[in-house]
Amino acid sequence: MLNIILMGPPGAGKGTQAVDIVDEFHIPHISTGDMFRENISKGTELGRKAKEIIDRGDLVPDDITVAMVKDRLSKDDCANGYLLDGFPRTIPQAEALKALGEEIGRPVNTVIDISVPDQVLIERIAGRRVCPKCGASYNVNTMKPSVEGICDRCGAELIQRKDDNAESFAVRLKNYYESTQPLLDYYKKAGLLHPFNGVGNPADLKKEIIELLRGLE
Ligand code: ADP
Ligand code: ZN
Repeated sequence: MLNIILMGPPGAGKGTQAVDIVDEFHIPHISTGDMFRENISKGTELGRKAKEIIDRGDLVPDDITVAMVKDRLSKDDCANGYLLDGFPRTIPQAEALKALGEEIGRPVNTVIDISVPDQVLIERIAGRRVCPKCGASYNVNTMKPSVEGICDRCGAELIQRKDDNAESFAVRLKNYYESTQPLLDYYKKAGLLHPFNGVGNPADLKKEIIELLRGLE
């Protein structure tokens, strides 16, 4: 069974890879970023709390984020594995996840760290367009949809995320290095960490990450 965390800086390709992985292994894709954005677009109380924080590139407080993930991971569809994308992002989140994994009898057993140099991240984020409906990611330079501005998967109109601007991205990257990168050492010590080179063409990367996970199943 694969209980996976996908780690990596903003723009590393976590969301893109996640979509392929969950398709292949038939496990739920749990993206905290997507969950927050859904709450924002529906205007829930959680969404109202998170919106400004997310737009400026900061991290939503741990208690809010952990409660949301706890709810999601407790659902039945996670019984045969799951893929976490964008969580945990801080040591307290990782510790909460450890307790939760034990509680539900499905502890994380695989952590993939996708690495990509900063300069490439900056270029990817600037060109990124996303589908507000299904969460698919595109890039106006390197991963164009078949019809400009339209999602290949669901036909919705693509948008640029509000936090995909230079200023918010700089905050996100700083938060990544300060709060999230220390988790790599945490998971390395736990013997769960698998490094993955995230630079390359999307089709090759897809094949490589699925091969890596097949070997760990
Ligand atoms: P990316 O990986 O491209 O930065 P995500 O879609 O994963 O984007 O997350 C978008 C934003 O949602 C983050 O910048 C942050 O504000 C918030 N967020 C997502 N996951 C978490 C988390 N685990 N803890 C705190 N904030 C989070
Ligand atoms: Zn779509």
